[in-house]
Amino acid sequence: MQIAVIGAGLAGLAAATEVARTDHDVVVVEASDGPGGRVRTDEVDGFRLDRGFQILLSAYPEARDLLDYDALDLRAFDPGALVRWNDRFHRVADPLRSPTRLLDTMRAQIGSPIDKARILAFRQAVGRGELADLWQRPETTARQRLADAGFSDAIVERFLGPLFTGITLDPELGGSSRVLEFVYRMLSAGDAVVPARGMGRISDQLAAGLPDGSLRLSTPAERIDGGTVVLAGGERLTADAIIVATGVDEAGRLAGLETRPWRAVTSVWLAADEPPLTEPSLVLNGTGDGPINSTVVMSEVSPHYAPPGRSLVVASTPAVGPSLVGDMRAQLAEWFGADAQRWEVIRVDEIAKAQPVHLPGHDRTGALATDDGVVVCGDHVRDPSINGAIGSGRAAARAVLTGSA
Ligand SMILES: Cc1cc2nc3c(=O)[nH]c(=O)nc-3n(C[C@H](O)[C@H](O)[C@H](O)COP(=O)(O)OP(=O)(O)OC[C@H]3O[C@@H](n4cnc5c(N)ncnc54)[C@H](O)[C@@H]3O)c2cc1C
Repeated sequence: MQIAVIGAGLAGLAAATEVARTDHDVVVVEASDGPGGRVRTDEVDGFRLDRGFQILLSAYPEARDLLDYDALDLRAFDPGALVRWNDRFHRVADPLRSPTRLLDTMRAQIGSPIDKARILAFRQAVGRGELADLWQRPETTARQRLADAGFSDAIVERFLGPLFTGITLDPELGGSSRVLEFVYRMLSAGDAVVPARGMGRISDQLAAGLPDGSLRLSTPAERIDGGTVVLAGGERLTADAIIVATGVDEAGRLAGLETRPWRAVTSVWLAADEPPLTEPSLVLNGTGDGPINSTVVMSEVSPHYAPPGRSLVVASTPAVGPSLVGDMRAQLAEWFGADAQRWEVIRVDEIAKAQPVHLPGHDRTGALATDDGVVVCGDHVRDPSINGAIGSGRAAARAVLTGSA
């Protein structure tokens, strides 16, 4: 069988990897100049800049299964966090994995003593049973789920809200409670990590494992015509099966899917002569004031993110907008001192379409078969995460290979 995959983001790469493990032939056409879609890293003046700050959760089961973690040389964030609140940083000691250590957190006035018991109970609730069952549980919004679990407003606003927003880009916590439970379970079960040389190494690893010549970059698919992918320029690729792994907007155009709204993010990458913090900790905004949701000294997580003698800081906010960058710089100076005003902005990533919105009621499946026999995959089909994209791509490959599409 000849299988054509449109799009070399993580979903398309995962689908192609599964096909390549069989006797069938695969060709992947990718519109842009490199593999990875939303997960790419660029080298700029010796710094490694991911396309928007993001992290891998090492417990993601699909990622664990498909990727060679050792070769990625994963570097972990400190399991706790620093919370900026009341004009200083408060250390929150790994409450998700070691809820008993929340005592430190109590001293930090981030939550009420009762929150300690709640965290333990919630951790047990989301960790119980098979992961697949979690996606069948009663569903509400993330905010409602936290309220139902009895968390105080203080711990939601000062810690849990900013923590989940850093991953789900959902500051209102209006998305699905199942996504919240999934992320909570993953954070409890493993580490937040990045490959030592950037998130793009995940995509590069998958691309490198594909058969020679099977990945065609700078090759946009124009349309699908029956069993043929028509490329921009007119070339026609005939295939026995077609997998559309383009992201939801292009899936709408190519395969007639309904598009969805998106969540946005702005990440500002800055070079500093001295690291403002000498630890690999996520710094969260616990005040709700100012644009920054989180900031990290990436070169403290992995020194390969910056050239020798320099530090790389990234600050993120779950929005795009004209005055954000200036306001983010001012906030960094407020937090880290006037020196931060001198940090050089290396790049601003304004990503209006970072993650498809995943509301309660979203029909989450592995992959979708259209009436025309095309199989669609991607984070929009499953859930908006690296795990969701990989899992959906693998499900699409299975559907095509077993003829169940
Ligand atoms: C800034 C940011 C932060 C994030 N943070 C996290 C995080 O912390 N943890 C986490 O798990 N997830 C995070 N995510 C989400 C995660 O990165 C995505 O869910 C995942 O990468 C989506 O992969 P995909 O393959 O479904 O889609 P994409 O990565 O969008 O891949 C689609 C590919 O198809 C190509 N394409 C489109 N149209 C065509 C065409 N006509 N012909 C050929 N090719 C085409 C595109 O160029 C692209 O390469 C974040 C995303 C962003 C952007």
